[in-house]
Amino acid sequence: MHTPKRRTFPLPAQSMNSWDKILSDPQDVTIEVIETGHLHISNMFFLNMKHPNAKGLKKEKITVPVYCYLIRHSIHGDYLVDAGLDQSFQENPHGNIRGLLRKLFWPLKSYQKKGQDIGTQIKEKGIDLKGVFFTHLHMDHISGMQHLPKDIRLVVGKDEPNYSFGPLFYQDNFAGVETLYEIDFDSARNLPPLGRCADIFGDGSFWAVHTPGHRKGHVSFLVNGKESVVLLTGDACDIKLGFDMGVGPGFGSYDLHEAQQSLERMKKFVRMYSQINVFFGHEIP
Ligand SMILES: [Zn+2]
Repeated sequence: MHTPKRRTFPLPAQSMNSWDKILSDPQDVTIEVIETGHLHISNMFFLNMKHPNAKGLKKEKITVPVYCYLIRHSIHGDYLVDAGLDQSFQENPHGNIRGLLRKLFWPLKSYQKKGQDIGTQIKEKGIDLKGVFFTHLHMDHISGMQHLPKDIRLVVGKDEPNYSFGPLFYQDNFAGVETLYEIDFDSARNLPPLGRCADIFGDGSFWAVHTPGHRKGHVSFLVNGKESVVLLTGDACDIKLGFDMGVGPGFGSYDLHEAQQSLERMKKFVRMYSQINVFFGHEIP
């Protein structure tokens, strides 16, 4: 499996220092939702069943969409958040994930219709992609990368590992990619109640939000557009039920306690600013 080298993402000078200011000055940036398939998965991955608020919830299999998002900035161009499923999932519910233990480490099934993969959709839309920002490196968020350009800016949270176990479980999603850029939130501003947030273009339009827990380097995003303001939770909150009940992500997460704290910061933020639309990792209400 090819492993790109890591470098620190060069953050521009950070603009504003409070959400009151930032949200009162939305920018020329829009968001489009792109669906790349479905997962059939146990809800215990999405909801921490041991949390007191989860009392009464039943374990069950659910079917949810796999999203990525096209972020279009009037000056900086077009970027994706996540790359979704690649076309190998059209043939096989484990796609081209390899290794003897792939069913153990990826205990879910993924489905994709013809033409639904990100490579095809980007081509059809005629998009000149400038880069991809990843919420985290789980396979349903990165495998589409196999069919995207390699010489664009690819960005992850600092210390986010590529989810693999040597030859026993891997998918070669970054073949041909030289460098992954890491956002170092230590050099970003603390913007309560969300915590550390990085102003990606330096104009207040598009923010990376430090939401560790589901994964070590998990990142959520905020699109501060004139048409709409959208918080992309990523898998820091997979479904609306988790957000509404205050139950963080579940089984398979890196640190359940940290994940719960990340969820609670986002809940507080959304309570404070009623104009914010929330798109969950695997549900858009
Ligand atoms: Zn995930």
